[in-house]
Amino acid sequence: MTLTIGVPDHARDEWEQLHDTLAAHQEPPPCAGPDRDHWTGTATQQQQAAARCLDCPAMVACAAYALTAGERTGTWGGLTPSDRTPKPTRKATTKKKHTRKKPTPKTRKAATR
Ligand code: SF4
Repeated sequence: MTLTIGVPDHARDEWEQLHDTLAAHQEPPPCAGPDRDHWTGTATQQQQAAARCLDCPAMVACAAYALTAGERTGTWGGLTPSDRTPKPTRKATTKKKHTRKKPTPKTRKAATR
């Protein structure tokens, strides 16, 4: 059983999967090393941390957890917060709807007076 304080209910399975994956390996993950602060450091540090995640056997499970849980801070599974933020999509440009009402015989008559 793993500690789940702060883990959203909808992401508990992914959290458990992440811990099971880490427990199956002898080596601690890179984010548990002496430079662990980089995973929550500056943008540059987090980019470097994300590259280090590539060496982690739990990278996929970690990213799955972070995306499911909606983690907003820190680097998880090789993804920085900005990598996990959905980019705005370019909306199709729509012509502004013509809202002027079509003149009726009554309004047309009033307009000509
Ligand atoms: S993938 Fe996750 S567990 Fe592995 S080093 Fe990166 S942040 Fe740590």
